[in-house]
Amino acid sequence: MNHDTSLSLPERLAAVRARVAAAETRFSRTPGSVRLLAVSKMQGAAAIRMAHGAGQLAFGENYVQEALAKQAALADLPLEWHFIGQLQTNKTRPIAEHFAWVHGLTSAHHAERLSRQRPPDLPPLKVCLEINISGEDTKGGVPPAQAVELLAACRELPHLELVGLMCLPAPAEDEAAQRQPFRALRELRDRLATPDCPLSVLSMGMSDDLEAAIAEGATLVRVGTAIFGPRH
Ligand SMILES: *Cc1c(COP(=O)(O)O)cnc(C)c1O
Repeated sequence: MNHDTSLSLPERLAAVRARVAAAETRFSRTPGSVRLLAVSKMQGAAAIRMAHGAGQLAFGENYVQEALAKQAALADLPLEWHFIGQLQTNKTRPIAEHFAWVHGLTSAHHAERLSRQRPPDLPPLKVCLEINISGEDTKGGVPPAQAVELLAACRELPHLELVGLMCLPAPAEDEAAQRQPFRALRELRDRLATPDCPLSVLSMGMSDDLEAAIAEGATLVRVGTAIFGPRH
């Protein structure tokens, strides 16, 4: 995939939006049904401000301290912050207090802490369960067989809103191979969904495989490098 660094940030953002729109058309998805999360980890606050100036509101961060510093520097902007990194027990409080979404929930213990620590004057924290869909030992996420149990635990919690599933598969060469884990995540969602918990969000797809994810039903793609260029 070609991430042209001679383009300006607004031009790269526009190019990513065009890729999303083209994939929606190509795979008969409703236009505008795929949200773009700009993954700003290891990028400066100035770059986020520039992306906001080009119309981007939702940003994903992986590291709590780094995110909090940028949130403070950008407090004048109405941004929506998504935590997409690995959760650690000793970091759940700042996440519960300073983010709107958490994409990588993998334990009932973390879920319980996030709900308890969520300030009651904020809307419930939106969460996606991270699923280890390709079954690799090295990957984060709960095995599909444990998803039902974690889902049930999350649904008990008053300050969490379980909105869907997320995955982060290993890179694959071609689109057909990229689509396999995304299809598996959608099929798992279809099995787990109930009328009162439809799990309507599928958080999947990044800079190099967003088309494959959109083909398989992604509703939110998490894109860093293609928007911001290489990370510092
Ligand atoms: C870094 C990261 C991304 C963005 O990856 P790019 O390849 O730069 O688009 C997406 N999701 C998660 C969970 C990440 O950690």
